[in-house]
Amino acid sequence: MAQLSNFLDGELDPAYCEKIEQHLATCPMCPIVVDTTKKTIALYHDAPQTEIPPQVRQHLIEVLGLDK
Ligand SMILES: [Zn+2]
Repeated sequence: MAQLSNFLDGELDPAYCEKIEQHLATCPMCPIVVDTTKKTIALYHDAPQTEIPPQVRQHLIEVLGLDK
């Protein structure tokens, strides 16, 4: 969840962690993104900023109801 929190610029209410986990269980796309990100972090231990496709990031924000 820390990675996802980083996706969303740091702040992530614990309540959203549940939403994310539930979403990951049903979304065909997000688990792939998370898996890829974990591999990237494993490769580059000190990755300054995890790169996530903007459309995926937006997707997560919308799914979590974080859109402002
Ligand atoms: Zn998704």
